[in-house]
Parts: sequence; C-alpha cells; structure tokens
Amino acid sequence: MKRLTFYVVALHSLFLGIVIANAKTLAVEVGNQKRETASVSPSVSIPMSSPLPLSKVWVINNQKSQHQSFIWVQDTKKTGQQPFLLIAKDSEKPDKDKPEKPDEKPDSTSKPSKKDDLEDFNEVIKDTQKQQGLFTLYRNKDENKIYLEIKPEQLNKNFLATATLESGIGEAGIYSGMPLQDFLFYFQQVDKKLNFVVRNVNFRTREGDPQARSLARSFSDSVLYSIEIKSIHPQRKSILIDLSDLLLTDLAGLTSSLGLPGSADESYFGNAKVFPQNVEIESVMNFSGSSSDDEDEEDSDQTLGFISVPDSRGFTLRVHYSLSQLPNNNYQPRLADDRIGYFITAYQDLSNDERKEPFVRYINRWHLEKQDPNAPISPPKKPIVFWIDNAVPLEYRSAITEGVLMWNKAFEAAGFKDAIQVKQMPDNAKWEPADIRYNTIRWINTIDGYFAMGPSRVNPLTGEILNASILVDASFIRALKSEYRQIIQPNENERQTRTSLTAFMHNRLLCANGLEANKNQTKRKLFAKHLSKLAGEYDLCYGMEAANQFAFGSLAIRLLQPAPPSSEQVKNYIHQYLRLIIAHEVGHTLGLRHNFRGSTMLTPEQLNNTDITRNRGLVSSVMDYIPPNIAPQDQKQGDYFPQMVGPYDDWAIQYGYTQFPATTPVAEKPFLNKIAEKSDQPELTYATDEDMYDLDPTADAWDNSNNVLLYSRWQLENARIMWDRLNKRPPMDGDSYSDMREQFGTVLGNYFQNIYYATKYIGGQSFYRVHPSEKQQKLPFKAVPVEKQRQALALLQKYIFAEDAFNFSPDLLNKLAPSRWRHWGSSPRIGRLDYPIHDLVLFMQSLVLWDLLSGDRLSRLKDMEFKNKAENSLTLPELFDTLQNGIWTEVLKPEGKTITISSLRRGIQRQYVETLSEMVLRKQYVPEDARTLAWYKLKQLSEKLDNVRAEDEYTKAHLLETRDRIKKVLDAPLQGN
Ligand SMILES: [Zn+2]
Repeated sequence: MKRLTFYVVALHSLFLGIVIANAKTLAVEVGNQKRETASVSPSVSIPMSSPLPLSKVWVINNQKSQHQSFIWVQDTKKTGQQPFLLIAKDSEKPDKDKPEKPDEKPDSTSKPSKKDDLEDFNEVIKDTQKQQGLFTLYRNKDENKIYLEIKPEQLNKNFLATATLESGIGEAGIYSGMPLQDFLFYFQQVDKKLNFVVRNVNFRTREGDPQARSLARSFSDSVLYSIEIKSIHPQRKSILIDLSDLLLTDLAGLTSSLGLPGSADESYFGNAKVFPQNVEIESVMNFSGSSSDDEDEEDSDQTLGFISVPDSRGFTLRVHYSLSQLPNNNYQPRLADDRIGYFITAYQDLSNDERKEPFVRYINRWHLEKQDPNAPISPPKKPIVFWIDNAVPLEYRSAITEGVLMWNKAFEAAGFKDAIQVKQMPDNAKWEPADIRYNTIRWINTIDGYFAMGPSRVNPLTGEILNASILVDASFIRALKSEYRQIIQPNENERQTRTSLTAFMHNRLLCANGLEANKNQTKRKLFAKHLSKLAGEYDLCYGMEAANQFAFGSLAIRLLQPAPPSSEQVKNYIHQYLRLIIAHEVGHTLGLRHNFRGSTMLTPEQLNNTDITRNRGLVSSVMDYIPPNIAPQDQKQGDYFPQMVGPYDDWAIQYGYTQFPATTPVAEKPFLNKIAEKSDQPELTYATDEDMYDLDPTADAWDNSNNVLLYSRWQLENARIMWDRLNKRPPMDGDSYSDMREQFGTVLGNYFQNIYYATKYIGGQSFYRVHPSEKQQKLPFKAVPVEKQRQALALLQKYIFAEDAFNFSPDLLNKLAPSRWRHWGSSPRIGRLDYPIHDLVLFMQSLVLWDLLSGDRLSRLKDMEFKNKAENSLTLPELFDTLQNGIWTEVLKPEGKTITISSLRRGIQRQYVETLSEMVLRKQYVPEDARTLAWYKLKQLSEKLDNVRAEDEYTKAHLLETRDRIKKVLDAPLQGN
C-alpha cells in the first residue's frame, strides 16, 4: 500500500511540475510527481544541458499555416547565449534562391517579376498613420493593421529580434518580463514573398574563403516565415508587408511552448513605436483552451489548470517585440579563458584547419570605451545605465541602487570610473521596460515564488551585450517578511528509486532536475522544458532557494539572539539581502557566470570579523550562492551578507573590460593571459555550475567559508539550539502552530543541507582550472586530506546516525500542526496530519548511507588510494569499519549485560544490513572489493549478534530477525555477474 505520508507542502515549490500538475486537484497527488534521478556514475549528466525536445513553431507559408519542426538550440558551450531556432529538417526548404553567402548583395530575384499582382502602395497605406524610423510603420488602428516598409538596402542585412513577455499570469513561468526568444534575422526577397530568415551564426569562415559556399550549403539558416509582399513602392522600391503576418502569428513560439494554438483572429497590436535604431511593437494574444492539434496529444484535459486566472480556459498575454539594428560601433570581441567565468558566444571557425580547436569563444560583455583612453581611470563614453522600474516599492529602491553600484569598485580595477549608473524610471514614463533601449530592473508579481533573474540580450556575432533586464519577484519580498516554507520532502518515488543524495540536494538547492519535464505528463510541460533552460541561465532557481536561505537566516536571528530583533534590525537584514541579490543578478548582466568558490575566501572565524569583511570582503565573489552568515553561539555575530563585490569579481571585470592597445582579439591574448595567470591565487579560484556535480567540498551552492566542515558543524549546533528554543520560548507574535511547523521544517532543511556538505568530503577532491606552465605548481586535482575525511565521517556519526542525533522533545513534535486553510492557492494536507518523524529521520539517514556506500563513491575511494599515498587515503575497510561501528554501536560495544536499541536506531541498522546485503547479492553495482568487504562485515556482525542479549521485545525481535537475515544472505547461492 502506498502511504501518503509525505505531502509536498512547499507551495513555492521547487518543482514547477508540482504546481502545474496538481494545481487543479487536491494535494493528494502532489507527492507523486516523478523525477529523473541523476545517475551516480562519474559522468553525471548536467540536466540543464540536455537538449530540449522538438517544439513546433507555426510557419506561415502560402497563406496556409502548417507545422514545421524546429529545435531549440541549446548546449552548454553557448550558455548565456540566447536560444536559437534551427529547422529540424531542411530538405523542404523553400528558399532555393537564397544567396550563397550571407553578406552578398540581393541578387536579381529581389526585383519583382510582375508589378501588376501587387497592390497599389498608396492604396494600402490609405487611412494609416505614418511613423518613421529604423523601418517605416503605417498603422490603421481601426482595422488593427500595421504595415512595415523595408528599404531595398535593408534586405539581407542582419537585425536583432527579441521577444519578451510583457504581461504574464504570474504562474508556472508565465511571468511578465520573461525573455521568450531572440534571434538574429534578415529579410530576404524571393519573388513576391519576403522571407524572415534566422541567421545561423554557429559556423563561420573568413571572407573570401571558397568554403563559404559549402558552409551555406551544409548549415542552413532557417526560414521562419514567408510573407506575402503587399506592395512595392514605385520610386523607392521599398517593400511593404502586413506586419500581422509576422507578429500576430506568435513569432516568439509562445503558443507551441504552451501547447495551445493562439488564434490570430483574437490577436491584435498594442503599442507600436518606431525609433531610429529600433522598432518596439506589442502584440496581444488571446489564448483559449479549446483545441490543439498536437499529434502526440495524450492529455484530454483541455484546461491549463492555472490557479491565478479566474478561468483558465482563456487568458491574454502581451508579447513585446523589439526589432533593432545591430550596433555599428568599433566593438572588438574579447577571447574567453576557461579560468574566468564569463558567458560565451562561440562559433566554429572553418577557415583554418591547423588550429587545434575548432571553436572561437568570445566573452559576452558590454561595449565600454574610456572617454580619455590615456587616463589610468576614466569615465566611459557611454556608461551602462540601469533604470529602476516605477513599479518598485519606494522602500526597496535604495537597496537595489546600492546593489547595482557595488560593481563600480570592480570597474575601477579595469580603469573605468562610474561605469554603471542607476536612474529612476519616472512615474509618467512614456516607454515600456521591455524597450530594448533601456536596461531595467523590473518588479513583477508571481504566485509561485521565483524572484530574481538577470537575462541579457547579446549580439550573437560578437558577444556584445546590448540590453539587460533584471526581474525581481515581489512574492520574494513578501516571503522575507514572513517565514517561508522549507521541509525535507522525500516522496514515494525518491524512496523507491534510491535517489542519490547529490541529485536530491541539487533538486532542492538548484532545482536542476526538478524542472525537467516528464514525458508522460501534460503538454504544459513543454513550457517547463523551456523554463528549465531559463532556469539554468537566468537563475530562476536561485530565487527559490534564496528565499529559503533568507527565511532560515531571519529565523536564526530571532532564535539565536537573546532577545527578538528590533524592526530596524529586520529591515537592515532585508536591505542587505536584497542588495546582494541585485548585485548577483547585475553580475550576470555584465557577462559573469556563477563562481561557487566565491564563499571560500575566509576561515569560519574570519567571517565574523568585520574589520576583515568590510575591507577585503566577506566573499571573493558575489556570483556564488551565498547563505546568510550565522555565527556560533560563542562568537560575536558579524555581517550576515557581503557589502561589496570581492577580489574575484574585481579580477573578472578586469579581464573582461580593461582596454588594451591591441587592434584584434588575437593581439589581446598576451595582455589577457597576464591577468588570467593569477588564477592560482586562492581568492581568484573559480568553479561554476558544471563543476559542482563532482564530489568537491569546496565548490557548492549555499555553503560557506574555506572550512565548510567546521562552518557546517556550527550550523548543526545552531539548529539544535533553534529547535530547543522553538519549543521553549513563547511563540513569537501572531505565530500559529502551523507557522511553527514551517519553522521546524526550515531548520530541518538547513540541518540536512549541512549534513550533505559534510558527505562531500568522503572520497572528495577539488578540481582547479589551472593551465600547465613552468611556474604553475598546482595540478588540476587535489584529494581531500584523509584527516578531513575522517572528521567528516565523525560528524556524520554524531549528527545523523547516533542515537541522540535527533533528540526532539515530544512536546515540540506535538506542536507541529499543518495549516487548515482551504481555498484557491492553499490546499490543506489530507490524510496524516501529525509529523511523520520516524519516516523522515530514516529517510535522511538512508540517503546519507546509500550515498556513502554507492558504487560511485566506493570507486572514487579506491581510485584515490591509487592516486595518493596509502597513509593519505581513506581506505574502503576503514569506511566500512567506521560505519559499522557507528551504526551498530549497541551490539559491537555493548554496555552492560543486556542491551536496548531505540526505534530510530533500529531503523538505520536495518537499512545498513539491507544495503550491505544488496551488495553481497549483487543487486547494486559496487567494486568487487567492496562487495567482498560487505560480505566480511556482515559475517563479523552476525558473530557479534550471537553474543548480545536483550530484554525488551522490540530489541529481541530486531536482533533475531537481523541474525536470520544475514544468515540467509551469506548462505544465498552466489549469483553470477
Ligand atoms: Zn546566478
């Protein structure tokens, strides 16, 4: 029987799937969402890099709409680059006449064959209002028509199109301000059609290379639309098209992502404005859940089941399009270096066969030029300006401003003064935040609690960042003011499939797998897939876990201090955190990737020394995911969050933005190398998203200090104090028992997180991105010292396996009542209401045990014995021995004549025997040596079991049954491989 013991109650759920799949039903189903469990093999795949499935885009061809398959191009090499569409099969390409080389002048086909078929130019634009700029627009508001005039010299020229969701529904990733789709495109005339073609920028060669022809044949640009030309101006020869053919047809691919057709009849234009370098147009799309012709339709459910819209069968979305010219400046791309974390624009250079490396990689960065090129420090000709959306509440504007301006310190290291500026969007502003000319910090509202991300728009040819926006979700701020929910959430699936600890924690800390769609779930999952990409690139998940971390910190302040914090203290705490979040997101918009070693600069003790933290910084990089710094009870609390960007940030900006006297990217290399060479300095070390799937205790999200083990032990001790005070102190103002349950869960979540960090020491090693050179002594891999591994094992014994590891007071457990509100947005749990303490503790213990004895970990340990001196290695026998002694202490070192084993301990002991038995019976893959050791350990244990006696029936039965089980396992016929 399936017990529904663990309902997932995280309303801001880490798993998009939960909200989507179950919003329309009661919470019963919630625990059952399936998740891919990351394999424990050494080559753990990075979920966010997995290719997105074929999605479909409407292609308008010959006035008929037809489906055409496209691939959302995505790979980690291009992290940070905007998504591009590639046509899935290019056999049926309609554009045989397209020029062989992208830059060729329009050929003869650009002349209209017969003018007579076209309408009269003046007739078409009759009764329209004309707006001139990059393109000329003619608008007839009454008829909902916009015509676009394209000059002949604009054909075959690159333009950038970006689509942004201007208004969302505040749920399931459909948020206002979400970037939807960017592409580099050109207009191409083919007879009486105008093709809207997306440029393939992934393969390039030098000008004049004959291979350009083969390139054009081999790698196709993608014709997204083929539009009927309305008219051609008799004198100007410019081309007129009906823009609704292009923009009211869901160019952004939103409908396919949602799996719903958006009917063009129900779409119309909102604002449309033209400027010299860009055109800003809004299209309003009405969605209805009526029908869908997805052939792989499995889902008979016609409604989307959103809970934030009054009737989810229909809703309206506004999509903002920007068509803009690529900047015509003297921007020089800058080559990337793998020791410094920038988002990258890469292409394959086919012009030189002798290069070892086919890829050319540019960092993404802004075009900054010194006003005075000779001054050591100069203001830029054009600073990077961020506008604070006029919807941002007044009380948060100063924190946001400070967070943005933090980066000016780093730019000074690169020779720029006041490189970044902040301006306030006026209340009566005539422009919209999605306008590509403005970098904005927008305020949005969602119900599922993602809160901040920093997407940017990049020229895919050069890596030049053209525009950036930061989204801050107001619900995050709401969460800051009340406690947020976090509980360890095992579900049936995780327990049955033995989810690896790493996968389990990454789901929670990074939501990497959690957003992965599941094949047999609904079409809305398509959108989740798109989201998972955004999550990887734009920090959707940061927001979710950041809210939890924040809640833990504010709870810690309340419970660990002798007196409740003043409102000033609370305000200050919020201010510090919001400022940090903004600094992190701004860092992304400057081109920087995560650096999960950012928190490893200081020792745990130094973290609370404000002389150090306010001069050198609390962290080496704000591009880490940084938890609130909480001091142990016997130390004075220092700063909770960093006040400044750190040395790594300064250095990275120096690499990306310092101006060099070099006129080509290659000529900059010696200058760049000089900067990058410093990467072996401890405060400049860098490890990013794809590095943290290894067992490296120095590179993880939300951990802290250069001695994570010690810092984590402090937090584990803090957690015990917090539980105690939660129970003993009178409830805080207005707190209900369900609040208390959430607070208990918040602490438990943090407790387990620190346990997880400790497990990374065992068999762990650090990976450094160093290059070989004469003066470089450091090697890429460095094992965790054996002493540290032993300490980690001792810590796990004390805080997770020991008899008194979870000594909760019965009173406290009986206070943990769930919320009983039932209405939209709040589903009360049904079934078991009290706290399932045994199952929860056993689940946590089992996760750790499985992971320590997983095939992957044991193989690593074996290899490390080979790669290091024996005395510097934690051997497999030592690991088995330590675990057996810790888990079976009562039997192996009995105190007195009879023994008693408590219920929590009986649970983990059974689990231990079960795990070893599976090794012996070859049900789990482990190295042969480990299997033999498991057999040996079980034999030893069974001998000891013969010698102990128990009085109480629980223990008696437990001992007898275990003895019997081990005997059966040892006697079982040997199963071959
Ligand atoms: Zn981030």
